[in-house]
Amino acid sequence: MLDCSDNFATRHAVNRACVMHRKPLVSGAAIRFDAQLAVFDLRSASSPCYSCVFPEEGEIEEVRCSVMGVLAPLTGVIGAAQALEAIKIVSGAGQPLAGLLIADALKGEWRRVRVAKDPACRACGASPA
Ligand SMILES: [Zn+2]
Repeated sequence: MLDCSDNFATRHAVNRACVMHRKPLVSGAAIRFDAQLAVFDLRSASSPCYSCVFPEEGEIEEVRCSVMGVLAPLTGVIGAAQALEAIKIVSGAGQPLAGLLIADALKGEWRRVRVAKDPACRACGASPA
């Protein structure tokens, strides 16, 4: 499933559905000059989920493109990368993106951050809600 939504409530709802049905989640987001991309391959029990990295009960301030703006080509870049990852998953080609890819469009830099499953995660942990 591809999540291209612009708010945490939807992202967490999509994540819970992917966890429940063990479906890969291709998550992409962009705002202003920053973007991120991640594949949570929930077919594997050892994979982190979106909530492991961005806990639902966390104190993340919600910012929306409709308020903060976004550099339009950046949404194209992330959307195309999400499509690439989805095609790889569907076709079985290569390996899904590992970790969280973070883009700083102003600097032209991409960083990959390792992400790990949180055993206490409320979405995919030992006793999911
Ligand atoms: Zn989780």
